[in-house]
This record gives sequence, C-alpha cells and structure tokens, in this order.
Amino acid sequence: MNKKNFITLFTVWIIFVLISSAYAEQYDQERQLMVEKQIKQRGVVDPQLLDAMLKVPRHLFVPENLTSSAYSDTPLPIGYGQTISQPYIVALMTESLQAKKGFKVLEVGTGSGYQAAVLAQIGCQVFSVEVIKILAETAQERLNRLGYPEISVRWGDGYFGWEEEAPFDSIIVTCAIDHLPPPLIEQLKEGGKMVIPVGPPYSLQTLWLFTKENGQLTSENLGGVIFVPLLREVRQE
Ligand code: SAH
Repeated sequence: MNKKNFITLFTVWIIFVLISSAYAEQYDQERQLMVEKQIKQRGVVDPQLLDAMLKVPRHLFVPENLTSSAYSDTPLPIGYGQTISQPYIVALMTESLQAKKGFKVLEVGTGSGYQAAVLAQIGCQVFSVEVIKILAETAQERLNRLGYPEISVRWGDGYFGWEEEAPFDSIIVTCAIDHLPPPLIEQLKEGGKMVIPVGPPYSLQTLWLFTKENGQLTSENLGGVIFVPLLREVRQE
C-alpha cells in the first residue's frame, strides 16, 4: 500500500470510529433517561436491576430500522407478529421476582432476548424457551455475540417449561395465557416466584405474581397489561 492510500484508509477509519462513539454516547444518554424517567420515577427501586437496565444495550435487541426508538416508553415489533416488551414492564416483572445473583430462572418467550439479558446482567442463570424457531436462533446468536454465556435458549413450547433444568428459583412468562400451565407450577421451587400475564389474547390481561409456599400458590395482582398470546403451536419459520 502506498502512503496516499494509507492516509485515506486511516482517515476513513478515524471518521468511522468517531461516528460510532458518538452514537454509543447518544444511546448511553437515552438509556440513562429511560431508567430515570420510565423506571425509577414509576417506583422501581432495586439497585441491581436499575444498574442492569443501565448496562444492557436495548438498541441492539430491536430491528435496525427501529434503533432510534429503542429507548422509548413502548413495546416495539421484532417481526413474526411478536414484540419486545416496554422497558417499564421488563423492570416491573423482574423486580417482582426479587431475582438475585446465582438464581436459576426460566423464561417463557425469549423474543429478542432482552429480558433474558437483563436477568443475566443481574447475575442469574437463565433458561429461555421460544416457540418461533427463527426468533430462538437469532436471540441465541445475539446473546452469544453480546457476551451473555449464562443464557441458554431452546426452541420449543414453553408451556412445558424446561424439565431437565427444573426446579427454578423464578419463572417469568412473557406471553399471555388464560390459565396457569401446570408444568410451570411443578417446575417452580418451594419459595420460588412466578410472574405471568393471565387473560384473553390481545386484550386486557392481569399480571399475576405467584409464590409457592408449602406447595400452595399465593397470588398478588400487579395490574393490567397487554401481552402477545402464548402460542401452542411450535413454529418452523
Ligand atoms: N421477553 C421478550 C418479549 C417476548 S414477546 C423480549 O425480551 O424481547 C413474547 C414471546 O413469546 C414471542 O417471541 C413469542 O414467539 C413467544 N411465545 C409465544 N408462545 C410461546 C410458547 N408457547 N413457548 C415459548 N415462547 C412463546
């Protein structure tokens, strides 16, 4: 390479680095605002969770054409009729589980992998089941690339949980169903917590927090939500 070519290449590289770091800084600021305005101001206090949500790069979990909306106060489409949940809902569900470092957590509905990444950032070991094959594969590849080896993704019907890895300290279901799947109750540890939206598809559902005590479930209503439905058909696409 001659000197002139080298200088041109070097200049292009420097410009690329400067633009990338300007974007990274912008996303850092948006993420801080998200945590402050959407999450802390609505009453979420768990410092480990807030710290995790400050760290996980949500803009890398949404389709490229939506990165500029990644930190907005809404769910966003991720393709195949599915969505990445609103940041506040991720925070509310995660905090309700009181998940700590070392917890073994089952997630039903991997989607983009964002919720799993937040749990892993707290220090949990996450087993996540996704019914749509391409979403399961894309999420696993993304999580590996971003450095979350403590998350395992499996393609299948999460209604049946992940029996080989049970029991779990916590279970988080990120799609709605009209009843509590018995295999999930079975796979929850004594003293463990499960958060799940229960209700009809695409209309108002109730977010329930269940705790297993002496083999029985106690429940707490966390409010109204709208989640995509839990599908009972494993999809190849
Ligand atoms: N937690 C996700 C959001 C999930 S949206 C995130 O952080 O991005 C709900 C997801 O549940 C969708 O990806 C949908 O395909 C998946 N899903 C629906 N029915 C399911 C089932 N029976 N088992 C596992 N995943 C299911």
